[in-house]
Amino acid sequence: MKRGTAWLSRVFLTAISANMEGKRNTVQRQIIYGALKELDIHASAEQVFEYVKNIAPSIGKATVYRNLRRMAEEGEIMSIGNLTGSMHYDHNCHTHYHCVCDNCMKIFDVEEDFSEVMGKAYETEGFDIKECAITFKGLCWQCRDAV
Ligand SMILES: [Zn+2]
Ligand SMILES: [Zn+2]
Repeated sequence: MKRGTAWLSRVFLTAISANMEGKRNTVQRQIIYGALKELDIHASAEQVFEYVKNIAPSIGKATVYRNLRRMAEEGEIMSIGNLTGSMHYDHNCHTHYHCVCDNCMKIFDVEEDFSEVMGKAYETEGFDIKECAITFKGLCWQCRDAV
């Protein structure tokens, strides 16, 4: 068995007994979530689709894009915005931020706590922050070394 396909056989075992529409949707979602997690690169919708296509060709592009959007709305995954010309998603939902390399477009996690800054916005302006998207742009260590 190829690396990282164990989750997939589990999903397919569920799929065998899935003949109801609702169940089918759940299975599609599990496959899409699994692909995002397995890719583990803050994949774009396109990259998720390319991965899913190889393991479940019956799932179309529109389905992948729609499910990613819906999962992000429901908080199951995190939409991290249009960082490279297409929408990227993160299976890791805890509060963290991203660095994007200008050269190779790889996206890295920054584990940082900005709650103090957010608290200040409330104290000084009475502004209640609901959401925060911070993206740092620059060069990753590999691209930096290559210059
Ligand atoms: Zn880079
Ligand atoms: Zn991330």
